[in-house]
Amino acid sequence: MKKFVFLIILVFIMLISLAAKFQPSNSFPLFGKFIILDPGHGGLDPGSIYKEEYEKYYNLEFSHTLKKELENFGATVIMTRTGDYDLSSPSASRRKRSDFENRIKLINENRPDLYISLHMNSLSNSKYYGSQVFYSEINSQNKLIADILQKKLNSYLKLDRDYKKISDDKYMFKRIDPPGVLIEYGFISSSRDRANLKTKKYREELSKIICYALIEYFS
Ligand SMILES: [Zn+2]
Repeated sequence: MKKFVFLIILVFIMLISLAAKFQPSNSFPLFGKFIILDPGHGGLDPGSIYKEEYEKYYNLEFSHTLKKELENFGATVIMTRTGDYDLSSPSASRRKRSDFENRIKLINENRPDLYISLHMNSLSNSKYYGSQVFYSEINSQNKLIADILQKKLNSYLKLDRDYKKISDDKYMFKRIDPPGVLIEYGFISSSRDRANLKTKKYREELSKIICYALIEYFS
């Protein structure tokens, strides 16, 4: 009988150590994290434009790739839009304002562990390329997230760029309570970024860098 009890205890200990070895945090470091991705613009709002190319399509495509990569690391991810539309209410007299209001509401009400708004930059000088992170001071975590993200993106893109505080005219971000940032992941004015972002490989690589930064932030 004693031997039998000992055997049961031994099996129990083995099972626990096995479970510890395969716990979700090891293979899925973002397991249990709820993330909202917010692809900017959509529908009647194209965002930045370069010739016939619209930012809104890039944002959607990149968000879909990032969502997949985050999910591969175990995160639960939703997007504020999954197609070519904005979030304005049909009866709204000020479409852009209404779009912002509904994005803010969606993110605040769903209370994610983190949100990322995804946009592209545009400058008249086409030599600028790569990503830049922007944060609002509404949540004390935001600056830390921006710092980690920018460092990881800089080392991947071989840039020496600073992350920045979101300018006051971008009023949406001052009203989002959960932690999060705005990433301008590329320049629509850069031929290099446009070409890169059209390839699945680059979108996946850039997405993985963002995932690694988030893993560092959450650990
Ligand atoms: Zn934009």
